[in-house]
Amino acid sequence: MAKQPQPRIEIISTGTEILQGLYPDTNAQWLSQQLAGLGLSVAGHAAVGDSQEDLERLLEGMIRRCDVVIISGGLGPTVDDVNRYAIARAYGCELVEDEQAVQHIRDRFARRGLPFVENNRVQALVPRGAQVLYNDWGTAPGFILENDNGRAVLIALPGPPRELQPMFDRWVRPWLLERYRLDTKLTTLTLHTIDLPESQINAAIADLFRADPDVYVGLLAAGGKVDIRLTARGFDEMTIERKLSGFRRQIEARIGAESIYGCDDASLESVVGDLLRSRNLRIAVAESCTGGLIAARLTNVAGASSFLLEGFVTYSNESKTARLGVDPNLIAQHGAVSRPVARAMAEGVLRVSGADLGLAVTGIAGPTGWTPEKPIGIVFVALAWGNDSTVIERRFLGSRNENRAYSANVALDLVRRHLLHRGGKT
Ligand code: ATP
Ligand code: MG
Repeated sequence: MAKQPQPRIEIISTGTEILQGLYPDTNAQWLSQQLAGLGLSVAGHAAVGDSQEDLERLLEGMIRRCDVVIISGGLGPTVDDVNRYAIARAYGCELVEDEQAVQHIRDRFARRGLPFVENNRVQALVPRGAQVLYNDWGTAPGFILENDNGRAVLIALPGPPRELQPMFDRWVRPWLLERYRLDTKLTTLTLHTIDLPESQINAAIADLFRADPDVYVGLLAAGGKVDIRLTARGFDEMTIERKLSGFRRQIEARIGAESIYGCDDASLESVVGDLLRSRNLRIAVAESCTGGLIAARLTNVAGASSFLLEGFVTYSNESKTARLGVDPNLIAQHGAVSRPVARAMAEGVLRVSGADLGLAVTGIAGPTGWTPEKPIGIVFVALAWGNDSTVIERRFLGSRNENRAYSANVALDLVRRHLLHRGGKT
C-alpha cells in the first residue's frame, strides 16, 4: 500500500479520576511527545469520564474528522471499563472473544498463583476484525481497529503508563511508520528571554506566528522568564536549520539580541558562569531577601569555584554593617530596602571579598514588612566593580517565593548584561 500523507490524529484519555484532577493525564503528554518525535502532529486532546455514553458521543464526531484516534484507559475488567463497548457501538461492529488473549490472561493468573475469575474474560473481547495488541506488561490487550467506511483508524491502549508505553513502542510505532510518510523532521529551538513581559514579546513578534506554515512559534512564560519556542518542520535538516536561524535573527532584531540569554539547555546561571570564566573574573554576592538563592543558583554550575568567590546572607541590619561595612546611618536614613543601601552592600562585598564583581540584593519579598513607600515585591539589585557601580529597581507581584526567585533572576541577568557590555577586567 502506498504511504499516506500526514494524518489528522486526536487523543482521548479516559477515566473519571482524570476529570476530577486526581492524577495528571500523562498518557496524552507522553503519546504526543512520541508522535512529535515521529514527525506527526496531534490535532487535539480530549478527556472523558468512565461513561459509555459520553465516550460514544465524543467518538461520533472524532472518528469522522480524524484519520487516527488513540484512546488510552478503560480496557480493564471492571464495571467502569467501558471503552470496548463504546468503540463497538461507534463503529457498529460486534465484540468477539480473542482466544489467544483469553489464554494470555489465564497464563498471567496461573503465573501469579491466583485463581482465574471469569469476569476477566471480558478483557479478551475485541471488535471483530481488529488487530489485537497483546499485552506482555499487564492483562488487558489493546487493539487497532481499521475499517473501510472512511472513519478513523482506532487505536486502543490500556491506561497504566507502564503498560501503555511499551505497547506503543512494540505495536503502534511500527504500525505508524509502516502507514505514513514519516520523512518529515521536526526540530525545536528554544530562545530564553528575561526581563521582557510576555505581552511585549508577543506584540513585537506578532506577525511571525503565521509567517511560515512550517514554523510553529510559541511563547511560554514561567518564573519571570519567557521562552520563545520555534518548531520547524521540513524534509531536510539544512532547510530546517536555515528557517530556524532566519526566525532567530528576526526575533533578535525585534526584541534585542541581548534580551535572549541563551537557547535550549542553557540556564541563566550557566550563561553567567561561562561569561565570568571566559573573562577570568570572580564574583562575590551579598544577599538579603533572596537568602542565598543567588549563590545557590551560581553553584548549580559545575566548577563554580572558578568564578564564585563567596556569598553572604546579610539578612539583618547589623549583619549588613558588620559583614559589609554598610553605614548604619545610611540604613537609618533610607531603610535597608533602598537604592543607597543596595549600592553600599555591593561595594561592601566587593571590598571585603576582594572579588572583581560585587553583587547585592535587598527587597521586600512579602507578605509582611511592607510600607506604602516600600511595597511588597520591591527589590533593588546592585553591582559594583572597580570604582564603579550600578543599581536597578524592580517591582514584582508574585508570592514570597516567586518574588525571591524573580529577584535572583534579575540579579544574575544584571551580571550577564554588564559582562556583555564591559567585557574583561575593570
Ligand atoms: P486496568 O486494567 O489497570 O484497569 P485500564 O486500561 O482499564 O487498565 P484505567 O482503568 O482507565 O485503565 O486506568 C488504570 C490506571 O492507569 C489509572 O488508575 C491510572 O493510574 C493510570 N492511567 C490511566 N489513564 C491515564 C492517563 N491518561 N495518564 C496517566 N495515567 C493514567
Ligand atoms: Mg480500569
